[in-house]
Amino acid sequence: MTLARRIREMEASPTMAVDAKAKALKAAGEPVIGFGAGEPDFATPANVVEAARSAALTPAAHRYSPVGGQPVLREIVAAATSASSGQDYDLSQVVIANGGKHALYNVFMSLLDPGDEVIVPAPYWVSYPEQIKLAGGVPVAVATSTDSGFLATVDQLEAARTERTKALVFVSPSNPTGAVYPPEQTAAIGAWAAEHGIWVVTDEIYERLVYGDAAFTSLPQVAPAAAERTIIVSGVAKSYAMTGWRVGWAVAPPELAAGMAKLQSQVTSNVCNIAQAAAIEALTGPQTAVEEMRQAFDRRRRLAVESLSAIAGVSVVEPEGAFYVFPSFEGVLDRQVAGRHVETSLELADVLLTDAKVALVPGEAFGAPGYARISYALSDEDLTEGIERIAALLQG
Ligand code: GLU
Repeated sequence: MTLARRIREMEASPTMAVDAKAKALKAAGEPVIGFGAGEPDFATPANVVEAARSAALTPAAHRYSPVGGQPVLREIVAAATSASSGQDYDLSQVVIANGGKHALYNVFMSLLDPGDEVIVPAPYWVSYPEQIKLAGGVPVAVATSTDSGFLATVDQLEAARTERTKALVFVSPSNPTGAVYPPEQTAAIGAWAAEHGIWVVTDEIYERLVYGDAAFTSLPQVAPAAAERTIIVSGVAKSYAMTGWRVGWAVAPPELAAGMAKLQSQVTSNVCNIAQAAAIEALTGPQTAVEEMRQAFDRRRRLAVESLSAIAGVSVVEPEGAFYVFPSFEGVLDRQVAGRHVETSLELADVLLTDAKVALVPGEAFGAPGYARISYALSDEDLTEGIERIAALLQG
């Protein structure tokens, strides 16, 4: 059989691939430490699980519900997004999807025509370019590096702008770098987008996970002129340890939200009602677990930065959000590691998995060769042990 061109030409998700490999090796009894997928190691808070249990016992949850999401959940999301963004959203502007990833896919499918360009600052999360291409769009990467703390500037974005530029993907806190844009830079980027009629797709999935002096800023809050062409994407996965429940959303101007709901009506229908009930409880119930998890991530962040910085040849920009560190391994490439000549971060990731039983995602996956992403959303013991293994292999 011949696969369709769109599938042949698309990359499988490297984050999911690394995670699947690490989990399979672990299941086979290998002592693998997985720094791969960004997935909190905590259990979903008990009150959320209890809400799902009650929903599972309620016949209404056994039936179809509105395609774009249960009205109660959409109201809650509209109110929360209005509060964080300083805009006035109502439930007609919210589409509940099967995770933030699916919400993003809905956005690109509903927004882009063939040939439309979308500026994507790099390092970028693996699924943006592939989803843009699936929708017929053209991802245009704008490289950033440790020098600028992985923050894109208006000048860089302007240099990438063409007649075909339709949208910008703006992510803060960033996956994979953990960078958080200061409010002034967010405002400047939003003003630039508004001036040129460029849509902003802003992924706020890590909004609750910021550390130290950094603060989360929603782009429309500081750039109201961009609001009418901004789509906010978020979900419960990262803040509430709910990656497997698959509840995310997009908040968009009404016409675009209707377009996304139309797409969902033909493709998936409603998100699992039990998962939606869990999301309602997550967003409206006690928030203590969110803060406890954030504090644990903060501790691990400091641990990761400290121990990685101590490895000769590895340089680290301190992340201020999400749960990733994105060190440069350039200083340890192009030399022998564990008896192999290691030229690239892709090869280094392979050697680390084979010889140190440590799974991380090579920078190539994020459009940033020479780097690698380490998720610190795992236990302190595993984190310490994993970085010790990396150090031992590189220094051995
Ligand atoms: N967003 C997470 C990550 O980057 C989950 C995996 C994925 O969906 O790619 O690891």
